[in-house]
Amino acid sequence: MSAQELDLLKEKLITMRQDIFRCLQHLDDGWQELAEKDIEREEEAQKAELSELYAQLDERQKEEIEAIDDALVKMATLQYGKCEGCAKQIPLPRLQALPAARLCLACSARDEEQKNIPPALP
Ligand SMILES: [Zn+2]
Repeated sequence: MSAQELDLLKEKLITMRQDIFRCLQHLDDGWQELAEKDIEREEEAQKAELSELYAQLDERQKEEIEAIDDALVKMATLQYGKCEGCAKQIPLPRLQALPAARLCLACSARDEEQKNIPPALP
């Protein structure tokens, strides 16, 4: 991977990070707006619904930010692009599509398979 390619990926990661925070900010505004309306109308159901949505998005976004930060740290320590599963270099096209990828395609597929094992029936 060339320094220029690495720079492009770094830019992409930083943009992704900014987008998540912008989205959170936007959600915050909506949340506040709704909270104010709720005081007027005393409608708890809608508030609870949004709160649930917020918690969900927040968790997912936290994970995304974690993955992005992880990738940026790896860039700084020259460990970027190494698969956490098999320690091989992740191919550049995969990194370009998913700059925060921690696993190569083979390890990722194996990981997904393990996650998708349905829980045992009672
Ligand atoms: Zn791997």
